Amino acid sequence: MPKKTLGLNTICTHVGEIEDKQFKGAISPIYMSTSYEFDDVEVKRYPRYFNTPNQEHLAKKIAALEHTEAALIFGSGMAAISTMFLAFLKQGDHIVVQNTLYGGTSNFIREEFPKYGIEFTFTNGYQVADFEAAIQENTKVIYIETPSNPLLTITDIKAVADLASSKGLVSMIDNTFASPINQTPIDFGIDLVMHSATKYLGGHSDILAGAVAGSSEHMHRIWNVAKNLGGSLSDMTVWMLERSMKTLALRVKAQNKNALKMAKFLNKHDAVANVFYPGLKTHPEHALAKSQMKGFGGMLSFELVEGIDAIQFQKQLQIIKSSMSLAGVESTMLLPCKTSHALLSSEQREAIGISDRLIRFSVGIETFRDLKQDISQAIARVEKSEKQMEKH
Ligand SMILES: *Cc1c(COP(=O)(O)O)cnc(C)c1O
Repeated sequence: MPKKTLGLNTICTHVGEIEDKQFKGAISPIYMSTSYEFDDVEVKRYPRYFNTPNQEHLAKKIAALEHTEAALIFGSGMAAISTMFLAFLKQGDHIVVQNTLYGGTSNFIREEFPKYGIEFTFTNGYQVADFEAAIQENTKVIYIETPSNPLLTITDIKAVADLASSKGLVSMIDNTFASPINQTPIDFGIDLVMHSATKYLGGHSDILAGAVAGSSEHMHRIWNVAKNLGGSLSDMTVWMLERSMKTLALRVKAQNKNALKMAKFLNKHDAVANVFYPGLKTHPEHALAKSQMKGFGGMLSFELVEGIDAIQFQKQLQIIKSSMSLAGVESTMLLPCKTSHALLSSEQREAIGISDRLIRFSVGIETFRDLKQDISQAIARVEKSEKQMEKH
């Protein structure tokens, strides 16, 4: 099939399918074997070599969605990130990383890199000049994350990719928040794209997986390290991920739509002080987001006005769950100050713009009116109980 000419939903549904020649079933069979008969190939099939039929085929779907040649699927997003880093960095090398990174990535860099003698610099900001200023003689990689967690800042993908290639560096992006439906960074010159497939690619809060996509040459270098580190996953999980990805574009588009409506609704609400969403015209990088994203995503964050307690508000929600993780079909909220950023002091959090009132919202696919109603009733209940407290 000529992949470039296929539509998004056709790629999600069909690219990388395994034809069931024996029974002509509609879906890919699962190959659970960890042992395959020898044949005349250079690398024998074995799950830790990332080359079982299900692994190889699903990788084609991910590569097609990211507009590139090859991909590998890992046991978690962190397995994907750590393997990608260790494939391109060795003792004495240096990496420039965005200051606002997913907590797990930031921990991996701070805790593990010193053991390997790999140097790193967290940028002072997310403008291209901040990345340029952090480059050293021994820099090999630039790593970005956009939209970022939890404030949804937008990094200029093309500007960073151009900077990296002008200096002969490898550029990498965490594309988890956008998903390949909303953002295809390879089109802007990025070398390697990674995903926590636990999030949008999986989408149902029941799979832990990761992926990296890029040119065959770069992916071969990653594969060489991946087979040593052993971060592959069960073919049962690969098969579940394939099943989930058939509806990826449908889900993400529904989430884009709900999140944009939600951001507008919250922005107008008297009880809401601030909304952070790249789809709002008031977002400082709205124009940039529009130029590099096809949709603004299902993630947003907001702050309630002082006087409305964020924890009490979350307790009153009936449909929206207060829970970890993100990107499921169900809507969830969490307080970064109590979860991802709990280890920082209140002052340290304020310094990076994360107030104790900030709520991160992963908008699901529920009927919008019900989500809106849930928020309205929760705010009304908290306001009422706080008025009653004042009287006493
Ligand atoms: C969850 C997440 C990761 C890590 O993925 P796991 O599947 O939990 O290992 C990396 N980056 C982002 C942006 C994430 O949200």
